[in-house]
Amino acid sequence: MPKYQRMPLLFVGHGSPMNALAQNSYAKMLHDLGQRIPKPKVILVVSAHWVTSRTWVTHMARPKTIHDFYGFPQELFAVQYPAPGSPQTAELIKSMIQQPAIKIDDGEWGLDHGTWAVLKHIYPNADIPVVQMSLASDASPSEHFKIGQELSSLRDSGVLIVGSGNIVHNLRQISWQEDAPVHDWAAEFDQMIKVQLEKRDFDFILNKAPLTATGKLSVPTAEHYLPLHYILGASDTKDDLHFEFEQIQNASISMRCLSFGMAASR
Ligand code: ZN
Repeated sequence: MPKYQRMPLLFVGHGSPMNALAQNSYAKMLHDLGQRIPKPKVILVVSAHWVTSRTWVTHMARPKTIHDFYGFPQELFAVQYPAPGSPQTAELIKSMIQQPAIKIDDGEWGLDHGTWAVLKHIYPNADIPVVQMSLASDASPSEHFKIGQELSSLRDSGVLIVGSGNIVHNLRQISWQEDAPVHDWAAEFDQMIKVQLEKRDFDFILNKAPLTATGKLSVPTAEHYLPLHYILGASDTKDDLHFEFEQIQNASISMRCLSFGMAASR
C-alpha cells in the first residue's frame, strides 16, 4: 500500500452556479488551493445538491456532469467535468460505514454543480477520480457529523474530502446583484460561525446556531449548511483551521471557504 500524506479537509462555499465561469478572486483562491494541496488519489465531495432518502455514493466509473439548474446562460449548460469516478472508493466507503448502510448509485446521479462548479477551479484538468456523497434527508445534525467522523481515516489514503454548500444561503432574500449590500443578519451569522469554528464549539454549530434569530434567516433549509458537518466530523484537534475566503455575495449567500489540516501539508 502506498503511503499518503494525511490530506486536509475543505469546506467550499459555492453560491451561484455562475461562479463556475468566474475569473475573480474567488476563482483564483480555489485555483491556488489546487496548487497547495498534495495531489489527491481520489476526491470525495459531499454536495448540498444531492439530498436523498439514506446516504448514497456515486459508484460509476464515468460519472456524468449534471446541470441541476435552469434559467442560466447556455455557456453554463455546456460545461462538462469529465473526471473519472472511483467505484473502489465507493465500495470502501460502504464497507466503512455500517449503520445506517450506505447505498451505491450506479446510474441515477453523477457530478452536480455543487461538485463541478468548485472542482473546475481547483482541478481544471478533471484528471483525479471523484466520488459524490448525498445528504440523507432524515438524518440528524449529529448523524451527518458522525458520517464525517467515520470518513476521517480516508484522509490517510490520499482522499481529499470536500464539503460543498454555503454557511448562509437564503434564496428568498437574495439580490441578483453579486455585490449587493449584505443583509445584517447574514453578516452576523457568518461571523458567529467563524467565531464558533475558532472555538471548535461544534455542538453549537450543529445544534444551536440554526435556531438563533440570525440562524433561522441564514439556514432556512439545512442542505447548504450540512456539508460543513462532514468536514467538522472528519477533522481532529491537531488540524489547523484556516479561513481561505470570506465574502457575502448576492446579499444573502456566504462564500466563506475553510480548510482543516492545510498547514501540515504545505
Ligand atoms: Zn448550491
